[in-house]
Amino acid sequence: ETLLNRVQAHDGDLNSFITVCPERALAQADAADARRAAGRAGPLTGLPVAHKDIFCTRGLRTSAGSKMLDAFVAPYDATVVERLDAAGMVLLGKTNMDEFAMGSSNESSHYGPVRNPWDTATVPGGSSGGSAAALAARLVPAATGTDTGGSIRQPAALSGITGLKPTYGRVSRWGMIAYASSLDQGGPMARSAEDCALLLGAMAGFDPRDSTSAQVPVPDYAAALGGELAGLRIGLPREYFGAGLDADVARAVEAAIDEYRRLGATLVEVSLPSTELAIPAYYVIAPSEASSNLARFDGVRYGHRCAAPRDLHDLYTRSRGEGFGAEVKRRIMVGTYALSAGYYDAYYLKAQRIRRLIRDEFLRAFETVDVLMGPTSPSVAFGLGEKADDPIALYLADIYTVAVNLAGLPAISLPCGFKQGLPVGLQIIGRHFDEARLLAVAHRYQ
Ligand code: GLN
Repeated sequence: ETLLNRVQAHDGDLNSFITVCPERALAQADAADARRAAGRAGPLTGLPVAHKDIFCTRGLRTSAGSKMLDAFVAPYDATVVERLDAAGMVLLGKTNMDEFAMGSSNESSHYGPVRNPWDTATVPGGSSGGSAAALAARLVPAATGTDTGGSIRQPAALSGITGLKPTYGRVSRWGMIAYASSLDQGGPMARSAEDCALLLGAMAGFDPRDSTSAQVPVPDYAAALGGELAGLRIGLPREYFGAGLDADVARAVEAAIDEYRRLGATLVEVSLPSTELAIPAYYVIAPSEASSNLARFDGVRYGHRCAAPRDLHDLYTRSRGEGFGAEVKRRIMVGTYALSAGYYDAYYLKAQRIRRLIRDEFLRAFETVDVLMGPTSPSVAFGLGEKADDPIALYLADIYTVAVNLAGLPAISLPCGFKQGLPVGLQIIGRHFDEARLLAVAHRYQ
């Protein structure tokens, strides 16, 4: 009730929720009380959570931030929703996001932009900007996000919270509306690494309903939080501290890394030479997959349908024309172009080759270091509308996050300071399935 009241009082300014579900929340809270009274409570029982509106929730609108799905009520729960539900968490509502998770500022949502609680004239980051802003404003203690090219880590950094993008395959994608299937990964967002550890433990694990779900045992992340830093080898990718990085962000990140050195870690300079190719490769691969995934929204089976279609072609054209926003249309066009006969080899295949190079460079670095550290974002939160008319400027801000998705690696962003009152995020990248170490290393700083 306290949090529902806080949402009521403050979310008018922030716009971090698309849907709030008070009746469901209060009923779940009662059920959690009963479970506690019966001695069957776990560490998450009774704790409120908000899901990014890309996770299907039975009986509750799941919009993906799009007019296309404004009236869509999912007939089933996503695996992530089901698992946190089974842990006894209380669903407060669904958070705002960039349309179909395409964006880095939460300005492409059909439901309007989200404002950053630290300064409401700035963006909270995206695409999981609603979850990040709700956490930062203390409207909810735990939330979910998805990260295709940075959408958990970058809003975590810009909003001053902690967010973990798990290894590809670690968390089931079943019931998560697809953007770019080979890159999409759901994960926890919270106030601390410790809270993320509890959430990830409940979310992660094999799911036969997701064909790319990994059959790898889930460790007890919370139990692994202790541990010394002595002997930890931290790699600092030279390319992550070069031109384009804001000087104050660099200073905050370097100070945090120096703290790790003081605590006993060893710093090693490494090189990831293909870093500058990550954005062009990502912005070919992600739109290509999106153009294919979004073909299902045809106005026939679900989603927006135009009024009085003349024939089938008119139905497709107007339903899609009316249902999708400008950024989604841009991605569909870019992706369709890149996949078309005659251009496939030059763009899509080339991007896939770069993807392999990027992955190999990370794996080589991990032969000599345990984790990599650097900034999550080249700048702090920027002004609402500042980059809205310049998609390329927005894409370039993804420089430190997209390579991780291309390589399928886990990475966490945690707060490490401020620039003029706006939060700075430190990113820690790990080996495949080494989330326990990332959480423990982040926890040590917090
Ligand atoms: N900003 C990137 C994009 O727009 C990443 C988004 C995401 O991770 N969902 O594609």
